[in-house]
Amino acid sequence: MTRIAWATALALAASTLALGSCKDNAMPEGGIDAAKLLAADADTANWLTYGRTYSEQRYAPLDSINTGNVGELGLAWSADMDTARGQEATPLVIDGKLYLTTAWSKVKAFDATTGKLLWEYDPKVPGETAVKACCDVVNRGLAIWGDRLFLGTLDGRLIALDRETGAVEWEKVTVDQSQSYTITGAPRVIDGKVIIGNGGAEFGVRGYVAAYDAADGEELWRFYTVPDEPSDDDPEYLKKAAETWSGEYWNLGGGGTVWDSMAYDPELDLLYIGVGNGSPWNRAYRSPGADGTGEGDNLYLSSIVAIRPKTGEYVWHYQTTPGETWDYTATQHIMLADMEIDGKPRKVLMQAPKNGFFYVIDRETGKFISAQPYVTVNWASGIDPKTGRPIENPEARVDKTGKPALVTPGALGGHNWHPMAYHPGENLVYIPAFEAAMAYAPEANWKPDRKRGFNVGFDLGAGDLPPDLGIRKQIAGTLKGMLVAWDPVAQKARWTVPHPGPWNGGLLATGGGLVFQGTAGSEFNAYSAKDGKKLWSFPAQTGVVAPPITYTVNGEQYVAVLAGWGGAYAITVDGEIIDRMKPVQNISRLLVFKLGGKAKLPDMPALAKLPLDPPPSRAKAEVIAAGGKLYARYCAVCHAPAAVGSTVLPDLRRSATLADKGAFLAVVNDGLLKDNGMASFAGSLTKEQMDSIREYVIFRANQDKDGGVK
Ligand code: CA
Repeated sequence: MTRIAWATALALAASTLALGSCKDNAMPEGGIDAAKLLAADADTANWLTYGRTYSEQRYAPLDSINTGNVGELGLAWSADMDTARGQEATPLVIDGKLYLTTAWSKVKAFDATTGKLLWEYDPKVPGETAVKACCDVVNRGLAIWGDRLFLGTLDGRLIALDRETGAVEWEKVTVDQSQSYTITGAPRVIDGKVIIGNGGAEFGVRGYVAAYDAADGEELWRFYTVPDEPSDDDPEYLKKAAETWSGEYWNLGGGGTVWDSMAYDPELDLLYIGVGNGSPWNRAYRSPGADGTGEGDNLYLSSIVAIRPKTGEYVWHYQTTPGETWDYTATQHIMLADMEIDGKPRKVLMQAPKNGFFYVIDRETGKFISAQPYVTVNWASGIDPKTGRPIENPEARVDKTGKPALVTPGALGGHNWHPMAYHPGENLVYIPAFEAAMAYAPEANWKPDRKRGFNVGFDLGAGDLPPDLGIRKQIAGTLKGMLVAWDPVAQKARWTVPHPGPWNGGLLATGGGLVFQGTAGSEFNAYSAKDGKKLWSFPAQTGVVAPPITYTVNGEQYVAVLAGWGGAYAITVDGEIIDRMKPVQNISRLLVFKLGGKAKLPDMPALAKLPLDPPPSRAKAEVIAAGGKLYARYCAVCHAPAAVGSTVLPDLRRSATLADKGAFLAVVNDGLLKDNGMASFAGSLTKEQMDSIREYVIFRANQDKDGGVK
């Protein structure tokens, strides 16, 4: 479909939606209604929804900043954030005001030209909620309807804020807060219904997405992605799903959380959701067959599901990874576009899920069109075009073999939450891709703990790097990051820009022929959309993971990006090996650029590091080994595997509490630092077990000190 045909279809859909609007019909003057959201593509001044349009293309037609003049781009203003954790948000811009979320689910509103702070809002998420989050205390953004902004908080609330003042209009708890549910994703609004999912599949929850009335927060429908214990009242799609599971899977939650991607086709009236991994990861524990190894496709894990936004009714699904066991979520960016394939116009849906294949799906029917690997893949040799199912490598099927295997992509995927972008003129999808293999070692006699710690059914310590720094740096050399310009028709890369390592920023493409991306190496760059040539670069002082946006005020074009290193990889990456990407610290700050901008950033603060001065290691080998196993399950996801020192959260090898058992227990058992995010582990670990973790960290700290770590 051409852009004009799109506009016509959207206008038609707008008139349909206006008829069936929700009970909050009294839209305030200037409020954002269905017609405005449907026409978001032509509204180049604003950025109205997470992916800019319902199609989530992150393409802005603006061309004042272009390949010819991008060298003159300079800082217009910047704003420091009051948090120092990962910043993943896409700001919204509405009529000259910029709204964003930061770590800990806080919200700030700025004048989009001057950077003047207009208001801020803190939902006061309890610090100890951090232990329920797999991947940092991040938040990816807001939604707008009428004159209200909608925010999902880490502790599972959906909150409506007055856009002018930041005052709370209503607040609704959307999850069972006694379980490890979290919200990090941005809501979407379709015709007055605020749609939000949640995360927690590493901790034993059952995934769903739900719609709430924008007027008062009333829950309108809830769509579960995985079956519960079967009952006659189950909807048909869940009865079908239950046939693909075995054992008493409902006791473990099942997973399948909808923690990030959604897209909407107004013409087909279909909402597309991306469904996450199984809980636990290891299918042998989640859905065992008669022989005790994994069995069944386990619908609708790792699937793209199309549902009716009015009712939450199931329409179709496509499962990217049947019987997923590697944390291969299909929650990655879902993008809609129209293009000619084999001489026929097709309405497609595209996704580069964690499993390493780039999928093109017919978005009317869910039928497979094509898929090819966008990164190195060894778990499957390809996708069978007849069935749309992967052709698996039996050695990678660790839930069947029970043996460890080095599998790529690993649990972080070949692409994670970082948004892609599309350039219609080039017909290219830009993917923030990376390569980081993982050793999956099935854990014998695994027992669930749905209160604390990772519930995955694998020995997470098995893949830890050895203490030898030389070997660690060598292995680190196999980690790759790259910007891939993918041709979805030819199903191959047209060009690739290599980055020094994984976990680079989300993307923006513009009518000026540009692609913008921040990097883990603390740069913010502009590339030619056509050939990937780097045309401009700005030293951002911190790793950038969030995607940029662009907007205009009084006709002048701006580009904005929220900088601030963090998220899953950042908090677990080996601090000693990251130096080739430059040591990154978190400096959380919004950066806004325009042509001729002359603003300057403050000088970069020195990287503060406590001395590595552990007490001598005197514990028995079996105590250290037991502590190491517990560390891998309960600590590594925030403080880095093998206690090697995360780049964002405290490096435990340098902790003063190592020398003092009482001080260590005050934190780990009594919850002394719970407001900072370090909750008590008293319900899951005995004091003796906690102390074995202390002995393990002392051992590791001495090992690294002897190995030359400073
Ligand atoms: Ca996961």
